[in-house]
Amino acid sequence: MPEPRCPHCGCPLAELLPDSVHPSAEGKVGYRRCACGAWLVEIGGIVVGTTGLARS
Ligand SMILES: [Zn+2]
Repeated sequence: MPEPRCPHCGCPLAELLPDSVHPSAEGKVGYRRCACGAWLVEIGGIVVGTTGLARS
């Protein structure tokens, strides 16, 4: 199983601190702020989406 990474910059999720975690029907939904400025949305340790990309 590949290590979950930021799809934008490739930063491993394990190096990012979880900002907030919310329980849901699918499992724990976590949000992490990546060094590249994106918010990574993860469910059960898998990145399911990103949001809040820094505009440059
Ligand atoms: Zn990133």
